[in-house]
Amino acid sequence: MLSLIRQIEPELISLRRTIHMYPETGWMEMRTSAILADRLTRLGYRVLTGREAVAPGMRMGMPDDEALEKHAQDVLSQPGTPVHALTDDMRLGMTGVIGILDCGPGPVVALRFDIDALPMQEREDDGHRPHREGFDSRNRGWMHACGHDGHAAIGIGVAEVLMKYRDRLHGQVRLIFQPAEEGARGARAVVGAGHLDGVDYFIGSHIAPDDTLDDGDVTCGTWGSLATTKMDVVFQGLAAHAGGYPEKGKNALLAAASAVLALHAIPRHSGGQSRVNVGSLHAGGGRNVVPDQAEMQLEVRGETTEINAYMAQQARNICTGAAQMQDVTCSIRVVGEAESQHSDPGLISRIGDVVRRDLPFLTLSSEQNARNWGSEDISIMMNHVQAQGGQATYMRVMTRLAGAQHTVGFDFDESVLAKSVSVFCAAVLDLMKETQA
Ligand SMILES: [Zn+2]
Repeated sequence: MLSLIRQIEPELISLRRTIHMYPETGWMEMRTSAILADRLTRLGYRVLTGREAVAPGMRMGMPDDEALEKHAQDVLSQPGTPVHALTDDMRLGMTGVIGILDCGPGPVVALRFDIDALPMQEREDDGHRPHREGFDSRNRGWMHACGHDGHAAIGIGVAEVLMKYRDRLHGQVRLIFQPAEEGARGARAVVGAGHLDGVDYFIGSHIAPDDTLDDGDVTCGTWGSLATTKMDVVFQGLAAHAGGYPEKGKNALLAAASAVLALHAIPRHSGGQSRVNVGSLHAGGGRNVVPDQAEMQLEVRGETTEINAYMAQQARNICTGAAQMQDVTCSIRVVGEAESQHSDPGLISRIGDVVRRDLPFLTLSSEQNARNWGSEDISIMMNHVQAQGGQATYMRVMTRLAGAQHTVGFDFDESVLAKSVSVFCAAVLDLMKETQA
């Protein structure tokens, strides 16, 4: 297996780079989905895309139709787009791809790879390797700054290796290429399409920074990522002349402003950590006009799903209460959500044993590395699997980074691609070596 992975490594790097050159934000991963669907089909997988991959009505934080249409047009002329694999559903924002490999009776093993980019402009100077080597973003204003280009390539590497070793597998492999992870918008729609039903083992992974690699190569399971709810809030009032008839106006800016202050004063929860952030507020039009509209983007988080639910409910009460104070209306749209998550100790230690036995050149990280303070919508998939009696884990594979995640100078050491493929494949070969889960 390791010699095969070494053999396909250059191909994984080049796939990562072509995806890096054309990054696509959540629900816009049209070219990316077409590439993945095309590769999986050619490898011999049963491939589900469009509304078979994601439940259309459960997609959160959708771009508007105009943006989807424009991008759908753009991808047609981009180099490397396999136009024959680009479906109408993909072009309507039903992105994401599922690859299925049936190997008779045995456990169902699902692996998740997220594929979306971020709305940021990549660094354009020779200090930044993707620019220097000519594979920086051609989609202005979008960038793979979290490594999901790498995750997509890792998924294809895993697909290739498992197909070669399918005679040794018992059960079903489901490779889930998930759209719209950023903003926690996509997982719910994949779960809604049924792809986490009946899963016995579920594994996800993120490439993670460790510049010295002195704390090992792999963390086989993480825990504690924060549950979160992201909301867009619009306050709608009535404009009026601020000098002539101020009493006739309904002030949306004032409603939003009182909401912001109250949101940041939500009482702490005795059960654990919580967070709140109003990240943007735009209101009003002109100096002498009573502002009739205000738009706010906010998020709350909690150490547990319950604490987050408390924060989200408080946030709703505050926004509607502040609206009432000014006699304006308030509409709240949930545009993203994640739950808290815990990897299963049994699966963590099983994968740890596999790494020690089959990949002795890799070292396992210490326990401290397993704490997670971000939010990740893989939690929704993990909890779904665990609620049905399956086991789930969210791993980290360490690599050297240039620039922090979600910054414009982000890049990673591409040797992490082959390293991740080897961990995933060794784990799957072990989990599916017998017909019993
Ligand atoms: Zn990420």
